[in-house]
Amino acid sequence: MKQADVDVRIDMFERLPVPFGLVRLGVAPDHQAVKRVVNIYGKVAAAPGFRFFGNVALGRDLQVEDLERCYDQVIYAFGCSKSSRLGLPGEELAGVHGAAEMVGWYNGHPDCQGERYELDKVERVVVIGNGNVALDVSRVLLQQPDRLASTDISARALDELRQSSVQRVTMLGRRGPAQAAYSAKELEEIDEVDEVQLMVTPEEAALDPQSAAWLEEHGSRGKQRSVRFLHACADRDADDQGRKFHCRFLLSPVAFLGEERVEAVRVEHMEIYADESGALRSRPTGKTEDVPCEMVLLSVGYRGDPIPGVPYDARNGSVPNIDGRVLHDRGGDVRVGHYAVGWSKRGPSGIIGTNMADSRATVKMMVEDRAAGRSLSPSPSDDVAELLAERGVEVVSWADWDRLDAWERAEGEKRGKLREKLETVPEMMRVIGELRRAAAGE
Ligand code: NAP
Repeated sequence: MKQADVDVRIDMFERLPVPFGLVRLGVAPDHQAVKRVVNIYGKVAAAPGFRFFGNVALGRDLQVEDLERCYDQVIYAFGCSKSSRLGLPGEELAGVHGAAEMVGWYNGHPDCQGERYELDKVERVVVIGNGNVALDVSRVLLQQPDRLASTDISARALDELRQSSVQRVTMLGRRGPAQAAYSAKELEEIDEVDEVQLMVTPEEAALDPQSAAWLEEHGSRGKQRSVRFLHACADRDADDQGRKFHCRFLLSPVAFLGEERVEAVRVEHMEIYADESGALRSRPTGKTEDVPCEMVLLSVGYRGDPIPGVPYDARNGSVPNIDGRVLHDRGGDVRVGHYAVGWSKRGPSGIIGTNMADSRATVKMMVEDRAAGRSLSPSPSDDVAELLAERGVEVVSWADWDRLDAWERAEGEKRGKLREKLETVPEMMRVIGELRRAAAGE
């Protein structure tokens, strides 16, 4: 919409009745500063030429062929929303969950309201993987629920967190501290939470010679900072009180043990080695250990589900593309007029800022292609709003969202919270209908 010499009109389709995807449903409730990015999105939505079509799912209400009949260019920005699984023995046991689904649960995601954690029966949690999502779920589980009570956290999740018996979260990395996937700031943040102490043994905080040399020569400032921080934590004594966050390294899961409910994670001890390209990887040493727990969270990355008619790369759940230009299939030809951004473009890595930069790069391709006449050929008589009306789809507009937004904030205020989210699609549609009728004076 910032292009000076092109008259851009944008229709945005969202499967849920509410906008903002990751920011509403993925960013942790105690990271409200990050959520402020919606103020920018709100300005875009208010600009002339922008229309929001909420409650419209591609592949269900609308097909890719419909988009090709209505638009010059199509952008896929649906990301990756489910936890990757490991496929290990015992993964089906009660108490083994995906971290992404827990994130959705405490954020009130309609897809995750069926999750049951029974936190009153859980004292020890093992989180597999040590990225920022692992830290988010650990922090939410360990901190006092009262500190989350004034945020936009799901009311049901808050109730369950108040019943929680969790005392210890152990986060397992299959590589060492120099290769950990988390950011230094997020690691330090968990130790700053009142009554939570980060624990690491001096042995596991120590770097092997190859990692130490790599960190010195190639490690970013962030990596060096997180390793220094771990070393400082390793040198201190445990408090008698409070909940503990154990950072463990060079441990890779091989099985989940238990009868019906998980009772332990069997892990293999690993060692660092350099592969042919020089990359530092880990390999088993042959030694195993059982880490007891009542709950496991798999935080080993995300995967995206395929959407009918949209090319799909099963390796990471992205849409196959070159620099944002979508391909018919991986290694195939460019599918003219189709583009990808964000996790749909790159797979599930990178923060909101990463996506801004790479969205700009995709838009550059779109502008170039349009100037060169490489676009779709929509029919001037086809309008998507008419098409959806003919199919009986109940579309949610931005005006509907504005009213629901105000309603959720007001409901939150009554309870001393920033917002009380509606957590199911039928509830959202019911309240949107009521607010619509009230606005029309009915
Ligand atoms: P991630 O950063 O890619 O971390 C995945 C973790 O899973 C890594 O530790 C990885 O270890 C481990 N892993 C993968 N496969 C495994 C296996 N088979 N066995 C054992 N461990 C395995 O993913 P994420 O935490 O889901 O985060 C996704 C993106 O969102 C990241 O870019 C993250 O920074 C971003 N994010 C940012 C924030 C924030 O800024 N506050 C919050 C949430 C998410 P290896 O490294 O050895 O592969």
